[in-house]
Amino acid sequence: MVTKTLADPVSLLKGVGPKKVQILNKLGIDNIQDLLTYYPFRYDDLIVKQLNEIADQEKVVLKGMIITEPVLARFGRYKSRLTFRMLIEHDVIMVTFFNQPYLKEQLINGNEIAIYGKYDIKRQSLTAIKILGQQHSDDFAGVYRANKEIKANTIKSLVTNAYEQYQDVIEDVIPADLQLKYRLEKRQKMIHDMHFPASKKDADKARRSAIFEEFFCFQAAIQQLKKNDRTQAGQTIKYDLKKVKEFIKALPFELTNAQKRVVNEICADLLRPHQMNRLLQGDVGSGKTIIAAIAMYAAVSANKQAALMAPTEILAQQHAQKLQELLAPFDVNVSLLIGSTKTAHRKELLKQLELGNVDIVIGTHALIQKDVIFKDLALVITDEQHRFGVNQRKILRTKGSVPDVLAMTATPIPRTLALTTYGEMDVSIIDELPNGRQPIMTNWLKKQQLNAALNLIKEQLQAKHQAYVVSPLIEESEQMDLQNAQEVYQKLCEYFSPDFKVGLLHGKMKGADKDAVIQAFKDKEYDVLVSTTVIEVGVDVANATVMLILDADRFGLAQLHQLRGRVGRGANQSYCILLADPKNDYGKQRMQTMVQTNDGFVIAQKDLELRGPGDVLGSKQSGLPEFRVGDPIADLKILQIAQQEAHKLINAPDFLINPKNAGLIRYLREFDGLQAGFD
Ligand code: ADP
Ligand code: MG
Repeated sequence: MVTKTLADPVSLLKGVGPKKVQILNKLGIDNIQDLLTYYPFRYDDLIVKQLNEIADQEKVVLKGMIITEPVLARFGRYKSRLTFRMLIEHDVIMVTFFNQPYLKEQLINGNEIAIYGKYDIKRQSLTAIKILGQQHSDDFAGVYRANKEIKANTIKSLVTNAYEQYQDVIEDVIPADLQLKYRLEKRQKMIHDMHFPASKKDADKARRSAIFEEFFCFQAAIQQLKKNDRTQAGQTIKYDLKKVKEFIKALPFELTNAQKRVVNEICADLLRPHQMNRLLQGDVGSGKTIIAAIAMYAAVSANKQAALMAPTEILAQQHAQKLQELLAPFDVNVSLLIGSTKTAHRKELLKQLELGNVDIVIGTHALIQKDVIFKDLALVITDEQHRFGVNQRKILRTKGSVPDVLAMTATPIPRTLALTTYGEMDVSIIDELPNGRQPIMTNWLKKQQLNAALNLIKEQLQAKHQAYVVSPLIEESEQMDLQNAQEVYQKLCEYFSPDFKVGLLHGKMKGADKDAVIQAFKDKEYDVLVSTTVIEVGVDVANATVMLILDADRFGLAQLHQLRGRVGRGANQSYCILLADPKNDYGKQRMQTMVQTNDGFVIAQKDLELRGPGDVLGSKQSGLPEFRVGDPIADLKILQIAQQEAHKLINAPDFLINPKNAGLIRYLREFDGLQAGFD
């Protein structure tokens, strides 16, 4: 018999065929481990209550006996009401199910039943939501994030199956002494209680352990990377100072003081015989691309190669185009390697890369394929690196012999958080925009003021400028994002016809089609570009002076700031219009923050302050790495402790041989792909 392990693919579970495998993969679930850590995002509190303990309109579970035949009344085609009386101790209450006529069969006079619903004290009636079954035992039931293709309950039953079959091979990951010190659950119990808690207290306890585990493993992986970096000597890149100076002098503008400072910091690192590990933070439009160009040119002037990895094809292409323009006159070969690069071309490119005829390669994940081999890679730059996993970041840097690493991000991260999530990276900050930039004017309008927004756009178009319209964001449904964008596109086509042309850009487009649309917008074939958030990064059209963001309150602050950064890239006054009717104070404050400031660091700080624990937007859009259970903002304390402990543990001389770490090491090897560091 083959031994079971948590690395087993989900296809081994009963009822999981190729189609379901695909759907699960999309949720990030490949193996049993993934499934078992696909935790509920909330719990329904199903504790049975006494009538006199219930607040008005509270959602509760009531248990009692059905004492009348249920009566079904229909209104029109789809509406119906199913009512009956229920005896609870000595009280009789009325129970009503709306629009679920088919439940009549299950509601048998004389039976005991438990029902979840909303209670109205005055009327002594329960608006029922669901039947919990007679022998209902899970007081506190997990609810899973699902999508159109798979139901939350299907996920639940898969998790249940997986747990039943694999519970005996769940081994501890956190070393026993740390478990004791921080009163953490054993892993098996933790996983059990995350999915099937007997009470809220159990769920909370398990959650605390799960957050610790997630942060701890992440930190351990990072610390291990660092340890490797430190023990390996880096390269000294003896760049040609004269050439680099000439290149800077030939730029069509003078570097800002902040840019000059950062260039100096980077150049000093290049010369040092240690590996550079530097995070470059600079707001959108602060001129990071130039910095990348200078650093890469410096490496090339030392007869070495450089690579730049971007998270999307659009961004990679833009970088490639810009860097080609800048560097071609200096006899530098800049090539682009992305997923859609044609096979024949790719083959030739790889050959030239290995021969050293390609000096700089710009690309996406395509850069980290096994067959991409460099002659002498000395500098790796990643753009918006939080979008890459620890492992992807690592693979690229193992391609050269200890290349220097520069990670660029336009998402300002408050310092305390940067330190814990990116650890001991050196940080450079561009805190100044190029001269002559006019701050973007931001307005917040109510939805009924749409016409005012359209008028402003028209004015700008008449002045021969261009406009972006960002369509509403539907959390977790690309399909609906697309439908929305198409609708907006059609309406605007009608509205602006025949004077102005409208284009459409969305995430489901093929790479080549996206490029065609962006190129057409650059070439002014379109006056207005309707887009989903795919324009968030990188699109750079200086003639675009106005952006309208629809349903702006659905976006996080960081993302709004990123989007807004698409305008104000030229010398003309630019505008950003947020169209939103936020429902709560938090939404209003976010809109106001956007109106009040253009400073990304201020916005990031405000984002931190406004964000409460359990915030729906989570940390997804905040420039921090993405976690499954932990929220680096709400759970900062745990993150800090996990960091300290991981640091201590990984750097202990007996880390690899101490048996208490065996579970952790196996886990990191198997699931964080960090084999190299642990062998
Ligand atoms: P980022 O990547 O930081 O968002 P970019 O590097 O794309 O910003 O720069 C934004 C725009 O500003 C580009 O068009 C770039 O050519 C221009 N730019 C960069 N540095 C300067 C500078 N020092 N003076 C004037 N314009 C600059
Ligand atoms: Mg950029």
